[in-house]
Amino acid sequence: MFNSDISSVKGVGSIRKEQLSRLGIATLGDMLYHFPRKFEDRTKQKNIVEIMDGETAFICVTPLNNMIETRFKNRFTVYRQTFGDDSGVIDAIWFNNPYIKNTFKKGKFYNLYGKVNAKYRKKEIETPVFESADTNNITGRIVPFYNLTSGLTQLTVLKIIRQCLNLIEGSIPESIPDDIRKTYSLAPIDFSMHNIHFPQNFENYEIARKRFVFEEFLLLTVGLRLMRSRRKKQTAINISSAFEDEYIACLPFTPTNAQKRVIKEINKDLAASVPMNRLVEGDVGSGKTAVAAFALFAAVKSGFQGVMMAPTEILATQHYESLKELFPTFSVVLLSGKLTAKEKRLTAETISDGTAQIIVGTHALIESPVEFNNLGVVITDEQHRFGVKQRGALEKKGQNPHTLVMSATPIPRTLSLILYGDLDLSILDELPPGRQKTDTFVIDYAKRDRAYGFVRKETQKGHQAYIVCPLIEENVDLELQSVLTLTKEISKKYFAGITVEYIHGKMKSADKDAVMERFRNGETKILVSTTVIEVGVNVLAATCMIIENAERYGLSQLHQLRGRIGRSTDKAYCILISDGGSEVSKKRLSIMAETTDGFKISEADLKLRGPGDFFGTRQHGLPELNIANIFEDMDVLKEAVNATNEILKDDESLSKTKNKQLHTRVSALFKKFSSNGTMN
Ligand code: ADP
Ligand code: MG
Repeated sequence: MFNSDISSVKGVGSIRKEQLSRLGIATLGDMLYHFPRKFEDRTKQKNIVEIMDGETAFICVTPLNNMIETRFKNRFTVYRQTFGDDSGVIDAIWFNNPYIKNTFKKGKFYNLYGKVNAKYRKKEIETPVFESADTNNITGRIVPFYNLTSGLTQLTVLKIIRQCLNLIEGSIPESIPDDIRKTYSLAPIDFSMHNIHFPQNFENYEIARKRFVFEEFLLLTVGLRLMRSRRKKQTAINISSAFEDEYIACLPFTPTNAQKRVIKEINKDLAASVPMNRLVEGDVGSGKTAVAAFALFAAVKSGFQGVMMAPTEILATQHYESLKELFPTFSVVLLSGKLTAKEKRLTAETISDGTAQIIVGTHALIESPVEFNNLGVVITDEQHRFGVKQRGALEKKGQNPHTLVMSATPIPRTLSLILYGDLDLSILDELPPGRQKTDTFVIDYAKRDRAYGFVRKETQKGHQAYIVCPLIEENVDLELQSVLTLTKEISKKYFAGITVEYIHGKMKSADKDAVMERFRNGETKILVSTTVIEVGVNVLAATCMIIENAERYGLSQLHQLRGRIGRSTDKAYCILISDGGSEVSKKRLSIMAETTDGFKISEADLKLRGPGDFFGTRQHGLPELNIANIFEDMDVLKEAVNATNEILKDDESLSKTKNKQLHTRVSALFKKFSSNGTMN
C-alpha cells in the first residue's frame, strides 16, 4: 500500500492527483512523508464567559436564532449568527460569504475556533473555523498545517493524510533497522507517523520528530557512503602521474604549500585504479583554479580531454582566457550559450573529433548534445551553484572520468565530511603570499559621500572599483533599473572624468564580455554591477568595493562579493553602506567587519540563518531536508553517522533482510535527485 498511487485514496481524482504531484506527491508513502510545517494547539475548550478580549478560543456552542444577513451599500454583506453555551452568548461573524447562510442547524452543537472581540456589549468571534461538535478535524486537537499548492486547502490535505494513515497504519514500512532503532532509542514508525501528523501532545510530537530527523540523516549518510563505495568499484581512465613537476614549472608563480599539497593529492588520485572524486574547498582567492588546471594538464599530457564547467558565462570566459594563456600549446575551446548555432556546431565538432583538448563552458556543455572524444577529467567550478544532477550529466559524457569539484563555500570541516560523504576532501587553507587583509567598513548613508570620495581617490592612484547595487530579489526589471540609476547618479556626482560602466545578468553575452574586457584591461575604472560578479571573477587591479544597501545580502554572499577584491598584494577596501535593517542584518555586517576568514563566516552564517535555509539544493546539490535542521539537529546527525558506520560495517551492500527497507528508501531518495545512475 505504501507505494500505491495516491489516487487509490477515496476522494483523490485526477485533479487532486495533479495538485499533489506539484508537491512531489505521487504515492501514499509520499503523502505520509509530507509533514506538517507547523501546528496550532486547539485543544483547550473554553466557556463563552471565560473568554477575554483578543483571545483566540475554542468553544462548543449551539445556534440560538436564525442567521442575520446585513447588506451594506458598498456591496459588503455581513452574516451574523448568535450562538450560546451554558455560560453565555456570542455572535459569530462572516463577511461576503453567502455559502455560510444555511450551514448551522438549531439544536445541533458546533465547535468554533477563532479570535474573539469582547470590547462591545456582546462578544463576537470573527470568521471562525468550525465543524460539527462530534468531529475533531480542525478543532479540539493539535491541528497540523501543511504546505499547500493552489487548489488545495488545509482541510483537504489533512483528510487525505488521515485516510492514508487509516489505510496503512500498522503496516508502514520501517526503514530504520530494529537493532539501530533500539540502540538509539527511536520510536517505531507507526507511532511516529501518527504523532508527526496528529500528535496527542507535544511530547509525542518531539519523540516522533526525533525519529524522522534521525531517519532523514540516516538515509542521506548511508546514501552518500554507498555512492562512494560504488565509485570505488569503477575502473578509472589511466592518467600518468609523471607531470607534476612539469606543471609546477609552467605556473607563473610559486604555488603555496597548500596548493602543492592538493596538487599531490590530485596526482595520486589520477594515477589510481578508481576514478578520482574529489572536492577542493578553499576560501575565495586561495588559488583553486591553478590546482584544478593541473588535472587538465595531466589529462591532456596523457592523451585525454579535460573539461571545466563554470556557473556563469563571465567566469567561463575568464577561465578560458587564463587556461589559454597558461597552456599556449594546447587547443583550448569555449562552449557557452552565447555562441551562434553555427559556432556551437563547429566547436562541438572539434570536441567530438578530439582536436579540442581542453573544453571550458557553462551548463551549455550539458544542454547541448556535444560528444567528447575521450574525456579524462571533469572539473566543476563553484560546484554549489550546480545540482548533483548537472554534475552527473557532465560525467556521463565520458567513461568514468576523473572528477574534481571546487567550492568556495567553506563549511565547518565536520559538516563537510558528513555532507560530502561521497567525495574525498582537499582543503586549501592558505592564501598566496603577500595578500593583505581587506579592510572592511560598515557605514550609514550619512557617510556615503565620503566613501565615494575615497574610492575616487583610489582610482586616481590607478586602482579600480566595483560598486554593487542593492539586491532586488526576483525582479529583474527593477534590478536593471537600479543598476542604470545608480550608474547615472554616481558617474555624475562622484566620478566626473572617470570611466564608469555597468554589468548585469540580463545583458547580452557579447556585451557582458566587452564590459568585462574593458574592466580587466583597465579602460574602465569603475564597474557598477549586480551580483553577477559574485562568483569567481578575478580582476587584480580592482581593490575597492562599495556595496549599497548591504543589509539586503546574506553573509556568504557578502563574503563572496568581497572576495572579488584583495586578490593581489595591493591593499583592498570594502565599504558596506547600510541604513540599518534588522538585528540579524546588523550582526551580519559586524561579522564582515571583524573577519575575512571564510570558515568563521560560514559558521556564523549557519547560526544566523533560519532553519531549512542552509540545506537547499542550491547550496549543496543534495536532497533537500524535509524535517531535519542541519544546525539544531547536529547531535542527531552525529548519531546517524555513527549508525551508518555500524550498519555498513556489518552489511556493506545492505543486502541483509533487516536492512532491506533502508536500502529501498535510500535508493528511491537518491534516484530522485541524481540522474547519474550511480545509485540503483
Ligand atoms: P579562487 O580560489 O577564488 O578561485 P583563483 O584561482 O581565481 O582563486 O586565484 C586568485 C588569484 O590569485 C589569481 O589571480 C591567481 O593567478 C592568483 N594566484 C593563485 N595562486 C597563487 C600563488 N601561489 N601565488 C601568487 N598568486 C596566486
Ligand atoms: Mg574560483
